[in-house]
Amino acid sequence: MDAVVKPLSVRPVRPAADKSNENRPSREEAEAAVRTLIRWISDDPTREGLVETPARVVRAYEELFAGYAQAPGEILQRQFTDVAGYDDMVLVKDIDFHSHCEHHMVPFRGRAHIAYFPDQAVVGLSKLARIVDVFAKRLQTQEAMTAQITEAIQEHLKPRGVAVLVEAEHMCMCMRGVRKPGATTATNQFTGLFRDDPAEQARFFTMVRGFAR
Ligand code: ZN
Repeated sequence: MDAVVKPLSVRPVRPAADKSNENRPSREEAEAAVRTLIRWISDDPTREGLVETPARVVRAYEELFAGYAQAPGEILQRQFTDVAGYDDMVLVKDIDFHSHCEHHMVPFRGRAHIAYFPDQAVVGLSKLARIVDVFAKRLQTQEAMTAQITEAIQEHLKPRGVAVLVEAEHMCMCMRGVRKPGATTATNQFTGLFRDDPAEQARFFTMVRGFAR
């Protein structure tokens, strides 16, 4: 079956940060910046409870923003072609993620649901969850993250279609600003068969909502 895959009109996936980038600040500079913020909120970075905080924050950032150093192409490299003729939708739902909004650097968290129609190959199911983390562990908007996950799977796996639904709660809407805890934001993006066939979109949503968790 030849599915026409329309190109996505989204901004390109940002390249992984270049570790050798000479403009990258040193660890000491990053820790000094945290001390500056502590002073700016009117606390004392030299008091006992805060002395080690800048070092801990920088270590936490290495983990929370590890996605800059990861390449989706490497994660999706290993593909399997022996699937006994299986050619229907593959859906992995309820992939938990944590990310940070690029406007406030405050967390947002939620779940991603990913489906694709295999063409020549499938990937290990855990790889789809890892793709979510590659993009979640960067400064993000939910909209861009949804598009980047879709685009990465389309580009590297070349399925007949990809569907991605992301549902998240944004701390910057709960803790500050309009203060609306419990408000969730949903974003979805489709390519190929999913984009061209509303019935397949409907089946995707039914399967996401449908089977028991
Ligand atoms: Zn925000």
